[in-house]
Amino acid sequence: MPKAIKPTDPTSVSSTAIEQLGFAKTLVKWQRAHGRHDLPWQKNLHPYPVWLSEVMLQQTQVSTVRAYFSKFMARFPTVQDLAQAHEDEVMSLWSGLGYYSRGRNLHACAKRVVQDFNGVFPSELNDLVSLPGIGPSTGAAIASICYAKKEAIMDGNVSRVLSRYLGYARDLSQGAHQRELHAFAKALLPERVKDMPVYTQGIMDLGAMVCTPKRVLCEQCPVQGTCVAFAQNKVFELPFKSKKIKRTQKSIYWLIAMNDRAQVLGARRGLDGIWAGMHAFPEFESELALRNALPAGVEVRPLSVMKHELTHQSLSIHGFAWLFKEQGTSARVQKKVPKPWQSALEGRGFEWMDMAHWARVGRPKPVADFLNQLDGLV
Ligand code: SF4
Repeated sequence: MPKAIKPTDPTSVSSTAIEQLGFAKTLVKWQRAHGRHDLPWQKNLHPYPVWLSEVMLQQTQVSTVRAYFSKFMARFPTVQDLAQAHEDEVMSLWSGLGYYSRGRNLHACAKRVVQDFNGVFPSELNDLVSLPGIGPSTGAAIASICYAKKEAIMDGNVSRVLSRYLGYARDLSQGAHQRELHAFAKALLPERVKDMPVYTQGIMDLGAMVCTPKRVLCEQCPVQGTCVAFAQNKVFELPFKSKKIKRTQKSIYWLIAMNDRAQVLGARRGLDGIWAGMHAFPEFESELALRNALPAGVEVRPLSVMKHELTHQSLSIHGFAWLFKEQGTSARVQKKVPKPWQSALEGRGFEWMDMAHWARVGRPKPVADFLNQLDGLV
């Protein structure tokens, strides 16, 4: 049995030691027997579905991605179909998946693949990472799974598996240490390039099914015999990151104005900040600012407060419904509201949108949830 490498000093991890571990061979064998083989994007290891799934899987669970992947593949079976689509339709299908810059980059990337690569995803990592929304790990996944290139993926799952397996205790908040771990990841790759697709899938499967953040199943792990963290009882100490993401708390206030034709006022948000380019309601920094923007005597109805977690912010979203009882037109609304709001409406392109219109555009999940709440009010 190969010996575990010294865990206490990560610099002692040599590539010779790594080769002797048999990590890649063990993982490839395990993936074939016990890995995942029924994911929808595994039916065809063509770069288009692999890329689509990899982008969706950044920051999102497999269980959520399945339905979105199927919807996208049904509507856009090829990269050409996606490139030709209107951005609103792409973002509408992406709605609810979060991290919306991924959706916009997805569309931009499809256009670039069609324009610059004749509709064929490139096989070299350098070309792949030149495309919008494809970082080194996503690029390595496409190159290794679809083209059997010796490229090492390094997402959150893989850095957890490898830091535990190798006993890599350095602070992964620092870029230099991430690069060092990535160098070890490259040294662990299989010798035979033809094993690359299964190996890459295997290390992803190990991170998702066995070497998970909390319920770690070391007793079922194929590489337990040479795992440093297991041997040293340090599984829950690794990976080490000194900087944790700090979330600030913030409240925002949305005016959800609906006219008697069941149209709701909305506009595309600017291209900066959260939900950039998505459609949403007029937003205010406080309830007072929202009420001050309304004509005197107008009643607004508070809806339930919605909690929404973003990477760096915990949002409390306070929705206020304004049921507009006259026959509403954009001109009529602008006539009725005081000057500050009029200019806000004109400047930001607010318009009355019926539900079919809302369904055709990108809308963040809290917007969709508030629209559903309106059903009960009319
Ligand atoms: S033995 Fe445990 S800690 Fe080590 S790689 Fe396997 S699951 Fe992870």
